[in-house]
Amino acid sequence: MYMAKRMTRLGTETAFEVLAQVNRLRAEGKDIISFAIGEPDFDTPQNIKDAAIKAIKDGYTHYSSSAGILPLRESIARYISKTRDIEVDSDEVVVTPGGKPIIFNSIFSCINEGDEVMYPNPGFPIYESVINFVGGKPVPLPLLEEKNFSFDTKDLQERITPKTKMIIINSPQNPTGGTLSYDDLKTTARIAIQNDIWVLSDEIYCNMVYDGKFQSIVSIPGMKERTILLDGFSKTYAMTGWRLGFGIMRKELATHIARIETNANSCTATFTQYAGIEALEGPQDDSLAMIGEFQKRRDIIYKELNNIKGITCLKPKGAFYIYPNVTEACRNLDLRDSKEFQQYLLHRANVAVLARSCFGRRNEGEKEEYIRLSYATSRENIIEGVKRIKNATESKS
Ligand code: PLP
Repeated sequence: MYMAKRMTRLGTETAFEVLAQVNRLRAEGKDIISFAIGEPDFDTPQNIKDAAIKAIKDGYTHYSSSAGILPLRESIARYISKTRDIEVDSDEVVVTPGGKPIIFNSIFSCINEGDEVMYPNPGFPIYESVINFVGGKPVPLPLLEEKNFSFDTKDLQERITPKTKMIIINSPQNPTGGTLSYDDLKTTARIAIQNDIWVLSDEIYCNMVYDGKFQSIVSIPGMKERTILLDGFSKTYAMTGWRLGFGIMRKELATHIARIETNANSCTATFTQYAGIEALEGPQDDSLAMIGEFQKRRDIIYKELNNIKGITCLKPKGAFYIYPNVTEACRNLDLRDSKEFQQYLLHRANVAVLARSCFGRRNEGEKEEYIRLSYATSRENIIEGVKRIKNATESKS
């Protein structure tokens, strides 16, 4: 059948292919421990579920405005004003089915064919996919292990051209678990202001910072008007399946983004939005307990992985990912790259991880091999899974 040419430019999240492989192997009876999934293994807090059920019973089962119901937008505006130390109006909030549509909608709204967009590499693969889809030019900004998985500000400066229209940042970061320092944010802000560039700040993991305090680029003077802030409920409240996220942006862009929602989705489920108000305004105990547990698991997985010959890793500062360097392990096992290591671990150790290639192309001069493990799984799974990795990795050396 006839297909639009533009579809050849749309990428995907290859992580989903690994998940499909895991499901197939499990269906065959294999006992797979998966570190591949990027979502909390906790249940959504009960008070949030109850709020959704009440909303359904109260009849909130129809369309809402495309930007989201006003009480939720007001609640989000208060939450962002407080946590980012800026003033946000409900007209500057657009509620979407998950945080992901903010990536698509903002690139779709702000980027013309031939415009350049810088994005973190390794990074969430959807950035590059959407930049390509709209005919923009993706310009990868390397995140470097020697910089604690931040970027070299010289690399950022050098990549700016008259065609640069947007810089995407993500802190805490998927896949490295790194965070950007305040100095990095300030440099990015200065360059964005000087060159009149949008910044898409993906802050979906903002509540999962274990060392230090979360800082947002939007709080830096002069940045509010050029920042598109992405946040949501998926990670903080273990609500990935509810599809509830939002963007904060200047009013005229918010109107465009809401218009895309009118065209694409009409709106996010109305009762889900009522549950979002409860998430923000109700008790935070469950979410805080979950994040506290992630921190403990981070400490365990960090220690255990560093005990494996051929694997070294930095201590992640946030999110629920760890990104070990497996160069030596690959060499010891005669494996060409981390993709082969991913397959090796899946079939030899019954452990699922994601290879570097799931997070973008190799940067120029990048010689090291990495894998991503999500520690959004139980402590028992972490201990058993890492033991299996150790046995399989050290077996030949
Ligand atoms: N941004 C990053 C960096 C992510 O890792 C994810 C999900 O994995 C998202 C955005 C999308 O989140 P949501 O499920 O709310 O669409």
